[in-house]
Amino acid sequence: MDYSFTPEEEALRQEVRSFLLQELGPGYNDTGWEHGKDWEFERAYLKKLAARKYLTPGWPTEYGGLGLGIVKQTIFNEEMYYAGSPHFPLTINGTDLLGPVLMIYGTDEQKKEHLPLIARGERVWAQGYSEPNSGSDLASLSTRATIDGDDFVINGTKIWTTGGHIADWMFILVRTDPEAPKHRGISFLIFDMNTPGVSIQPLIDASGEHVINQEFFENVRVPRANLVGELNRGWYVGAALLDFERSGISWAARCMRRIDDLIAYSKEHTIDGRRLIDLPAVRSELTERRIEAECARFISYRVASMQDAGQIPNQEASMAKMFGSELQQRVANTGVHILGLRGQLHHGPSAVLHGNFARWYLNTIPDSIESGSSEIQRNVIATRGLGLPRI
Ligand SMILES: Cc1cc2nc3c(=O)[nH]c(=O)nc-3n(C[C@H](O)[C@H](O)[C@H](O)COP(=O)(O)OP(=O)(O)OC[C@H]3O[C@@H](n4cnc5c(N)ncnc54)[C@H](O)[C@@H]3O)c2cc1C
Repeated sequence: MDYSFTPEEEALRQEVRSFLLQELGPGYNDTGWEHGKDWEFERAYLKKLAARKYLTPGWPTEYGGLGLGIVKQTIFNEEMYYAGSPHFPLTINGTDLLGPVLMIYGTDEQKKEHLPLIARGERVWAQGYSEPNSGSDLASLSTRATIDGDDFVINGTKIWTTGGHIADWMFILVRTDPEAPKHRGISFLIFDMNTPGVSIQPLIDASGEHVINQEFFENVRVPRANLVGELNRGWYVGAALLDFERSGISWAARCMRRIDDLIAYSKEHTIDGRRLIDLPAVRSELTERRIEAECARFISYRVASMQDAGQIPNQEASMAKMFGSELQQRVANTGVHILGLRGQLHHGPSAVLHGNFARWYLNTIPDSIESGSSEIQRNVIATRGLGLPRI
């Protein structure tokens, strides 16, 4: 087994690292969603990324990408996440989810309108899948769209929408045939969030941040031309969307960065005259997290190399998601152990490491729920991976 990267892949890694160092500076701190967020800086930074096609490195060149294969894209994303590149909340739904789906299922008009805007980071997208009573069992969704002349008319609600409040457009799964079996009466639509009848209610999370939202739709008229794929076959479009960027490298890379931050901090700070890094409990916890992060990284590269080879990762992608997201929680926990009481401050002059671990401890809690909960991932691994019977 050969785990090394080719010289070309290493060169790409160095190129991305140099860019990030130049644009973000050494030790750039990703502020999360709100505290100290500088949206203006981020919009300007987005433009620089777009100019180099760095928002869409995996897209084919004809659609404004660099045409990198999946492994190279994973290397690229690993560096971006490690550096805390702040563009992901704004762009990822468009670049990594909707864009590739439009390339397969979109009409020529849809591709022409949306792909260039996504590639330039000028249209921010929200994902409208979950509903108050439909999460893990997504196919039970009940937000309704009826056809009236040239329009669909949407009524219902979506919830837990990441960035719904900053999104320009939404892609949404709606029920268009309530009589059909549940997977077969769903359609995939796209629409402007400023359409009359859309209202957004913020949902504040445990760390006090506004990341997620609930949207209400009251007679929202969406042109029929905004249907992606076939009518009542949207489940398959929506499922294909979830298959993109499944490597889960974001979890591993973020963990690596946080562990490195903790190691650096522990070398510089003392307690009772001893460096933190010299305390056995600290060394032991950091070592364990580092080994786990290395495992998460290898699972992610396994998923990416399967995709590059034209295989469809299944339980492997579930392992990457489950292990990586739960590891983020363990790393956050390790951080608050090591940093002590000051590590529990979110911000202010006494906060350490920018208050990252205090926030992270709280806002990694939902990681094992979003994008398919740990229980659902375990079910996939058990049934499709281990061949255990369904219960
Ligand atoms: C931070 C965050 C951001 C999100 N962003 C978005 C977004 O942008 N767009 C979007 O559409 N959705 C988003 N979601 C929603 C997310 O996809 C759902 O929360 C997730 O799919 C779980 O659905 P649910 O919350 O309805 O929980 P439920 O499905 O009601 O599950 C409740 C509990 O029961 C368990 N459970 C359910 N079914 C089974 C089963 N068969 N076997 C064993 N256990 C089971 C679950 O694991 C969970 O612990 C986000 C969620 C979070 C937390």
